[in-house]
Amino acid sequence: MSISPNSPILLTASLHVDEARKAISNLVDELLREANAIQDSNDIETVALDQAINRVLAKNLLSPINVPAADNSAMDGFAFDGKCLDTKETEVALRVVGTAFAGKPYEGFIGPGECLKIMTGALMPSACDTVIPQEFTTAIAENAITFKQSQLKRGENRRLCGEDLQEGKPAIAAGRLLRPSDLGLAASLGISTLQVRRRLKVAILSSGDELCTLNEALAVGKIYDSNRYSLTGLLNRLNLEIVDCGIVRDDPTSLKEAFIKAATQADVLISSGGVSVGEADFTKQIMQELGDVGFWKIAMRPGRPMAFGTLKAVPGKSSSTLFFGLPGNPVAVMVTFYQFVRAALLQLNGASHTEPPLMQAISEEPIRKRSGRTEFQRAILGRNAEGKPTVKITGSQGAGILRSMSEANCFVILGHDQGNIAAGDWVDVALFDGLL
Ligand code: AMP
Ligand code: MG
Repeated sequence: MSISPNSPILLTASLHVDEARKAISNLVDELLREANAIQDSNDIETVALDQAINRVLAKNLLSPINVPAADNSAMDGFAFDGKCLDTKETEVALRVVGTAFAGKPYEGFIGPGECLKIMTGALMPSACDTVIPQEFTTAIAENAITFKQSQLKRGENRRLCGEDLQEGKPAIAAGRLLRPSDLGLAASLGISTLQVRRRLKVAILSSGDELCTLNEALAVGKIYDSNRYSLTGLLNRLNLEIVDCGIVRDDPTSLKEAFIKAATQADVLISSGGVSVGEADFTKQIMQELGDVGFWKIAMRPGRPMAFGTLKAVPGKSSSTLFFGLPGNPVAVMVTFYQFVRAALLQLNGASHTEPPLMQAISEEPIRKRSGRTEFQRAILGRNAEGKPTVKITGSQGAGILRSMSEANCFVILGHDQGNIAAGDWVDVALFDGLL
């Protein structure tokens, strides 16, 4: 779909949330193709493992070794040759000839009728292929054990060489947004640095004559600029580089200058305010000079007005800057960020999975919902007496009421065609935080 400001679709009708998402993803794809054509090698950098959290892996990480490097015991117990399990005897008796510890292998010989006391992680001697866990042995004399044959099969409780990762095979695929487990996995391979995508530079600015910085006294009719701080929090979670362009007044010259400056310095510009009906004409005029930006009316609540596109006419910069003009209302800023901006930033940075996971929960109360738009209500996730997930909406849901976001831990997402919700209905839920 075209995102041109003159597109009749965008001027006359409200855009379905899914259409908006698709249009954004298509444009990001286009930008990625442009970037690939330039083959910008600055896009990849090498970082120490302990600095790689939340970065995007740039190339498949191939395992230089087998993990585990050799067969070893999965339990504390006794290792033996499982051949003896083939007999009809129901009770097995074995003589204990020594002990193997993790990191300290047993070097002696183990013959028929013999076993080795073995700790978890200790190397399996070549003569042994099975481990009977200590708790399954029915009698332990000074140097002998017995156990029932039925308690295990040949080959059990042994970790095989390379069963986790094989030498030369991809251990972590390119595009992975690196999590703590990935860092541990790389470390288990002896890898101390990773090649990751460079951090995107994201410029943020707030527009509005009413906005004050935090060190100013609040004059009549003014409010503190909160949007830059919620945006900073959201962007920091993605480990991106933030270029803070401050507050910009509602006049064409200041706005144009600020947009050019921000776009020159950053890959992406996120502004808030100045896109609602009363102010959009003003911003539109500037955007027409600077780039290709659509002014959208999205069928959603909150977050209906949003500008989106690219800034191109920036002197001294060959690549386009992705632009999100978010609405000014503090909750709408966060909703549109979570729904549109977050996925676009991840996609632009080469991540293979960009969508946050959805779950379902039972609504504790009825929710009024108008069909024909997607609603994002702030809610608290809990559990009922049967252990099923439940959600409860947090107080007033006005687009400016940031407390509703602050007290909530998830969105209830009510789909475009959905009508009123009754208490006890299952609804879609997106959590603000995963396991952090
Ligand atoms: P606008 O989209 O510029 O019409 O703004 C919509 C509402 O959000 C107005 O009540 C603004 O005062 C408020 N607003 C705009 N920008 C900010 C900001 N940076 N921080 C807090 N509130 C804002
Ligand atoms: Mg404004």
